[in-house]
Amino acid sequence: MIQGSTELVAIVGSPIAQVKSPENFNRWFTDHQQNVVMLAIDLAQPALDDFLQTLRGWQNLRGCVVTVPYKQMLASRLDSVSERSAALRSVNVIRREPDGRLVGDIVDGEGFLNAARKHGFNPKNKQALVIGTGGVGSAIAYSLCQAGVSHLVISDISDERVEVLGELLRRTFPESVISTRPASLEHFDLVVNASPVGMGATSDDGPLPLPAALMETLSANTLVTDVVTSPAVTPFLAFARSLGCPIQTGPEMALAQLGNLGHFMGVTPLDI
Ligand code: NAD
Repeated sequence: MIQGSTELVAIVGSPIAQVKSPENFNRWFTDHQQNVVMLAIDLAQPALDDFLQTLRGWQNLRGCVVTVPYKQMLASRLDSVSERSAALRSVNVIRREPDGRLVGDIVDGEGFLNAARKHGFNPKNKQALVIGTGGVGSAIAYSLCQAGVSHLVISDISDERVEVLGELLRRTFPESVISTRPASLEHFDLVVNASPVGMGATSDDGPLPLPAALMETLSANTLVTDVVTSPAVTPFLAFARSLGCPIQTGPEMALAQLGNLGHFMGVTPLDI
């Protein structure tokens, strides 16, 4: 029951009906007797600046999760952002400070790593491949470098995106080797599909983000992961599983990120 004393957090995007954060957060708030509620806001783009001004004045609102299409648009409109948000020009969470200032961060990569650690993956000195260098892929690549991978390969159908991210990572993390275009997958400890390929697929033989011949070179001890949330087991993950690889799904990443988002807004511990 929402009461006058209930504190609020929100998730903003458009469309919004598909997001899972409200049910995940609200279940956690209820289970832990917290007088906090998450609202889902489907915001039309022309209202974005007015919305930000309203957030600054909204005194019983602690923060706001940000989803498509506002992650990049909001990064340049906040009062301050983390170093990684500034580098990636993207935010997926905002905290409202008591004085009304809005502070942003992007924790997709940290959420991904939390989930991977639960599979026993430790990024230090490992070799990883990230397919898809958009908002989520860039954040995962950044966090993998920050966590000490020795070699990161990035790939995308957009050469320009690969070039821009590669240049940023080489400049920021000179100790990691950054390369592109994998010829084989056999040496990777981790392979991530961070592209939307497989979203909405209904059968195991749906589209793959890499040619099947390249997929065949996967070794059975590589952790193969996907960010796509629906279906949970994408054709990419089904293929990897058929080769004996351990897999990590998009919903696992989303759930593992809850603590990062809630902690940043000040409404949950980091490890929930
Ligand atoms: P985006 O549009 O910013 O980036 C997608 C990137 O994938 C683009 O750079 C595009 O060129 C690339 N791409 C498309 N097809 C490709 C292919 N065949 N091979 C290589 N690269 C290809 O999108 P985004 O915001 O990064 O979201 C990506 C996916 O992540 C979406 O499916 C989204 O639903 C999902 N997502 C999951 C979580 C989670 O917690 N699991 C969180 C946020 C987003």
